[in-house]
Amino acid sequence: MTICLGIESTAHTFGVSIVNDKGKILSNLNKTYTTEKGGMIPHEVALHHKKIADNLVEEALNYAKIKKEKLDFITFSQGPGLPPSLRIGKDKAKQLASNLQIPLIGSNHICAHLEIGKLLTKAKDPVFVFVSGANTQIIAYESERYRIFGETLDVGMGNALDKFGRDIGLGFPAGPKIEELAKKGNYIELPYIVKGMDLSFSGIVTKANQLFKKGVSKEDLCYSMQETCFSMVTEVTERALAHCNKKEVLLIGGVAANKRFCEMLNKMCEQRKAKFYSAPLRHCGDHAAMIAWQGMLQYKSNKNFEDVSEIDILPKWRIDEVEVTWIK
Ligand code: ATP
Repeated sequence: MTICLGIESTAHTFGVSIVNDKGKILSNLNKTYTTEKGGMIPHEVALHHKKIADNLVEEALNYAKIKKEKLDFITFSQGPGLPPSLRIGKDKAKQLASNLQIPLIGSNHICAHLEIGKLLTKAKDPVFVFVSGANTQIIAYESERYRIFGETLDVGMGNALDKFGRDIGLGFPAGPKIEELAKKGNYIELPYIVKGMDLSFSGIVTKANQLFKKGVSKEDLCYSMQETCFSMVTEVTERALAHCNKKEVLLIGGVAANKRFCEMLNKMCEQRKAKFYSAPLRHCGDHAAMIAWQGMLQYKSNKNFEDVSEIDILPKWRIDEVEVTWIK
């Protein structure tokens, strides 16, 4: 049995997880930096991570009832992410791998979101719809790479919903409140912006704000925001499905909580005789088990390990640059 320890540290969450090669999550402990008000200051986030790193590693090992010496390798989120946060994870991972004299594997954070989604839903080769706060990407595996078929040209859909919600006084995060208000709304026209396979959300937010100031109701705006944004993503996903000739769609990221969004994607899949999956919500946010599992896939498929001292963070690492060795 192969066992690894994975560390997540790309942004506000620092986490440690132990998984085995059967995909069993033996422990998955995550702590998120929060503030009473204001946003994230990167060096304060890094201080938070540094303070908790040692203890969290010990707790994750204890919870899994695994002795350090039983670990076969260490893996960590190498990018993309905020450099100060990434460095804390990398330093801790390097220290562990060097002390234990075991391999160290860098994992791509976005890839890890996709692979844990596959593990938990049993989807095999889906078109991924990855929609979180900052990300909106339609991704599929083709010719040894995860390829981005469409993506936002400006803000992620979650951030667009949150920005609109903040402007009309819904607080943060606004996504769930928009979903509630939308149930009582009617459709009014908003800009529908799909350029080729890419998407743009910022113009929709601007227009919705202008209409709000002119007295259009919150309910109508919420309903129309949802219908417009979700239709745009569904259209691009449908075209990616057709282009790749795939038969599955897997929705991941926090916006997967929205029932109307799932319903729209599901309906499109039914019409194309494809199967729709949505990743379990508790695994949609950032956490360490996804990093550990991603590392496990890499470990099993490629034993050419990099020298620990050579490994560094990759803050701008795009998913289409990852060499996918684990899918045959
Ligand atoms: P990122 O990792 O992209 O920086 P994040 O970690 O904040 O962002 P997630 O936790 O995956 O992202 O998702 C959060 C987003 O999901 C927020 O923008 C939130 O408004 C949105 N969201 C949550 N629930 C719903 C819902 N029911 N409807 C629409 N959006 C939702």
